[in-house]
Amino acid sequence: MDLKHLSRLAENLKPHETMPVLFIGHGSPMNGIEENDFSQKWIELGKTIPQPTAVVCISAHWLTKGSFVTAEQYPKTIHDFGGFPQQLYEVQYPAPGNPVLAKEITTMAKYTAVGEDHEWGFDHGAWTVLRRMYPAANIPIIQLSIDYFKPGEYHHSLAKDLSELRKKGVLFVGSGNMVHNLRMVDFEKLDAPGYGYDWAIESNQIFKQKIFDGDDRSLMRYDQLGKSISLAVPTPDHYWPLIYTLGLRKQNEAVEIFNDQVMGGSITMASVKFG
Ligand code: ZN
Repeated sequence: MDLKHLSRLAENLKPHETMPVLFIGHGSPMNGIEENDFSQKWIELGKTIPQPTAVVCISAHWLTKGSFVTAEQYPKTIHDFGGFPQQLYEVQYPAPGNPVLAKEITTMAKYTAVGEDHEWGFDHGAWTVLRRMYPAANIPIIQLSIDYFKPGEYHHSLAKDLSELRKKGVLFVGSGNMVHNLRMVDFEKLDAPGYGYDWAIESNQIFKQKIFDGDDRSLMRYDQLGKSISLAVPTPDHYWPLIYTLGLRKQNEAVEIFNDQVMGGSITMASVKFG
């Protein structure tokens, strides 16, 4: 990378109005190409929130041992799913990376070490959402991995260390699903609007209430929240991105819930905008 390019990237990280933080329920990879209520909202968000200088995405689909940020200038598009139409495998999302921001994150993180990664690119948790928000692929994007061997406190604390970046125009996007039990999805009811198992609907209500209450402590320890939640979060891969967004939020910040729908009985698309 030439010096001119480096200084332009550094230039990007100047003071900026505080960016909101998003948790996006991403659901099916098809949302990356289909026109529906969810993708429509993502398109709208890209147009209505302030233009970011860069995006940091915490995707449910990048699970690692240790925490890492993507540090490549030109990240590849990863098609990490099976059994979908060819059209979805042909999608390329050529947004640039931002190695300067990746490096800054490795120095800002105090709670734990964050390493630079040169293998990963954009997985579908990131690109299905971000290509709708920023179709021109002109906003630099990096991903922060999820250390899958660590508890909620870890994810929350690491995110908190990075919250100052919101004032430099960085948009954080957690991409997962709060209620995500793939094994129990009723595929015949995928198109039935609002069809949800009782435990899924109950869990969705509990999550939303605790988010509004700012009860991060019990959200971090979701495994102590009872039987419905244990069905809603059988494994925490799609849940941990929410905890990153909680760590990034400021006290008394506005909370907006959108795309609040249940899919196939056991997946919720409920998404949150902080700030
Ligand atoms: Zn997913």
